[in-house]
Formats: sequence, structure tokens, C-alpha cells
Amino acid sequence: MRDPNCIFCKIAAGDVSSEIVHQDDDVVAFKDANPRAPLHVLVIPREHIASLVEAREPRLVGLLALAAARVARDAGYGRQGFRVVANSGPDAGQSVPHLHFHVLAGRPFAWPPG
Ligand code: AMP
Repeated sequence: MRDPNCIFCKIAAGDVSSEIVHQDDDVVAFKDANPRAPLHVLVIPREHIASLVEAREPRLVGLLALAAARVARDAGYGRQGFRVVANSGPDAGQSVPHLHFHVLAGRPFAWPPG
């Protein structure tokens, strides 16, 4: 299902332009408009799911995780390392209510996160 008001649904449909780095029947990966690292890609399901807490289908979540790793590997960060983040809800700072995995790489990341 697609939400006509959702910016990420529009990106997945090609109605809003973005720099897509990978797409298939289930997922789309595109560059974040406000990158926080040399590599910053968002991996989303084509289906509108508001956040990780709304996700029900293990296969789809697995596909998102594998796509995130593939994006990092294809960009050359498989060995050096990368971070995958899914902000869910207000305390985590989720600003777009369409499930997305951030894939960040190209610099060291602090732990714990801020
Ligand atoms: P979050 O705050 O975890 O919900 O992450 C949302 C991310 O979406 C932010 O990093 C934004 O920079 C990014 N973003 C919002 N709109 C767009 C857009 N049209 N194209 C690419 N990235 C976007």
C-alpha cells in the first residue's frame, strides 16, 4: 500500500526525484538529502510502513537489512565498516513516518549514539 502524502512513497514511485543507488521489487535505496557521513543512504520498503514497530513481515525486514549491507559493500565499505540505524518514534528522532534504515559509512561513529 502507498500513502499519497508520504514523501518516501513518492520517491519509491519515482514521483519525487532522488539519487537511487539500488532498487528491486521490494526495496529502494537512495542518498539522504542531508548526508551525515560520506556515505548516507536510506533503504526503504516500497510498501508504506510507518516505522519498525509497525513492521510485521520478517521477510521484508530481512530484505531491508540485506539491502543495507549490499549498499555499504557496493560503496566499498564492507571491510572498513558501516552503521545501520532505524530511528523509530519521537525519542529516536524519527522525522519521516515511512520505515527506513540509514546506512552510514566513511568516518568513525561514536558509541553510544547521542
Ligand atoms: P529520520 O529522522 O530517521 O526519520 O530520517 C529521515 C531522513 O530522511 C533524514 O536524514 C532526511 O535528511 C532524509 N530525507 C528527508 N526528505 C528526503 C528526501 N526528499 N530525499 C532524501 N532524503 C530525505
